[in-house]
Amino acid sequence: MQQRVTRSKTRAAKEATNGTSNGAANDTNGTTNGVANGVHKAGKHVEEGLLARLFNRTIMPIFLITICPNVVILLWYTAAHCQGSFMVLGDYFTRVGVIAGMTKIWSQVQIGSPLAVYTILGYSAFQILLQVSLPGPTAYGPITPKGNVPKYTDNGFRCYLVTCAALWIMTYFLKQRGLSPTVVYDHFGDFLATVTVIAFVLCWLLYFKGIFMPSTTDCGSSGNPLFDFYWGTELYPRVLGVDIKVFTNCRFGMTVWPILCQIFALKNYELYGFIDSAWVCCFLQMIYFTKFFWWEAGYMKTIDIMLDRAGFYICWGCMTWVPSLYASVSLYMAEHRIVLGPVISIALMVLGSFSIMVNYWADKQKQDVRATNGECLIWGKKPDIIRAKYTIGYDDLHRDPKESGETKESILLVSGYWGWARHFHYIPELILSLFWSLPGGFTNIMPYLYFLWLCILLTHRTFRDDEKCGKKYGKYWAEYRKRVPYKMIPGIF
Ligand code: NDP
Repeated sequence: MQQRVTRSKTRAAKEATNGTSNGAANDTNGTTNGVANGVHKAGKHVEEGLLARLFNRTIMPIFLITICPNVVILLWYTAAHCQGSFMVLGDYFTRVGVIAGMTKIWSQVQIGSPLAVYTILGYSAFQILLQVSLPGPTAYGPITPKGNVPKYTDNGFRCYLVTCAALWIMTYFLKQRGLSPTVVYDHFGDFLATVTVIAFVLCWLLYFKGIFMPSTTDCGSSGNPLFDFYWGTELYPRVLGVDIKVFTNCRFGMTVWPILCQIFALKNYELYGFIDSAWVCCFLQMIYFTKFFWWEAGYMKTIDIMLDRAGFYICWGCMTWVPSLYASVSLYMAEHRIVLGPVISIALMVLGSFSIMVNYWADKQKQDVRATNGECLIWGKKPDIIRAKYTIGYDDLHRDPKESGETKESILLVSGYWGWARHFHYIPELILSLFWSLPGGFTNIMPYLYFLWLCILLTHRTFRDDEKCGKKYGKYWAEYRKRVPYKMIPGIF
């Protein structure tokens, strides 16, 4: 991590523990999420009410921390024991009751089974090795509210290719011995339960690390350990040079997901031979991952990285929620034999590929216009831009006068896709996920769960980002909103 503004780690740690100068103030990410200290209205910082604070900082975190691991296990159980039908699951709970039913379901998985533990830890070690050893150009994240500039090695695409190649080489050798990586599918409940616990432990370690040994000044405690565990105490934690969020989000979550897609498609093949739906679903997701890793340096400038601290929300989410909910379409497909035929298969693959290209182009327009300082062409024309000024410490809670007040300039693109709506690029992302869900047919809702989740996540994100950018850019963001009034769907929302 390269820091433009440096403070000694000891001081940052002290402040974090005391919760004094930064305590709440340090919680720049919490505030921008609208869940911490307050919200901005018409450029004014408004203190969060007591009830809202209790809800956002205690009730909601407790709810999510307790509910999410159960949802993860329920998804697996629905796929593995209820033919992917929530009706069958509902019948089960009606018969045995919710508490007894959940207890029985949890008793069917082995937390810490040797197979799961060795695979997860071995896979993590492999990913960390790739993360630190594969070469790549240097990429920088956006300057943080505390003036730090995170530095990365942009090797995500290489890591992804090596991981996929390793899977198929390993599959070849396992098959020679009568084994298969689909053992992961056969014991998927054990894997999910084990990774749930491992990710929990990691999040607690990160909580203490952020308090006692922060890597940068973008850290701090809110004074509420529960909220700090949920939201995190550090924005960019690093351990022995390993960036933890790159590991949890990209090298674990986003790499496990394609591995699972391929393993589940292979399971379908082992059960039924070639069935087009399983491979169309897998193909479209693989295109999505390939785009993701090709563009990974751009991901380092997104909300997940620049706003969300390394806590339960993002780290546990990426390590457990992604392999479960995000991979749930493929999980469902593994035991379903749905024949699409060549016309539908090709139509889905072509339209899905087009959607992801639109999403990529939109992301790229934003990146290009900033990388060239507005000296590029957007759809063949000079881009329409707003040169937006903002102040370091724009959360206006940054109290050290020596470190705050530096004014910076950034570009807001007002033409291209960014002139249609402020987050138009979410639409093709949603359409693609619908296309890879459609091979699941219309018998059950499970294959559409990820799509429905994404609708909620991305809609919520448009509000989060508006709030964050409103705070950061003030009148410049207001001007952008005036010129581009729609959040996501032009003319509608
Ligand atoms: P965005 O790409 O929407 O980036 C938001 C940031 O971009 C803002 O905070 C602001 O940051 C900057 N910005 C906003 N408007 C403009 C503009 N007009 N011109 C220039 N810069 C602007 O972030 P997301 O993280 O939401 O999405 C990134 C990608 O990830 C998308 O492709 C999205 O579809 C995908 N995604 C996928 C998810 C999934 O679970 N599958 C979840 C979320 C996203 P700054 O402070 O730098 O100005």
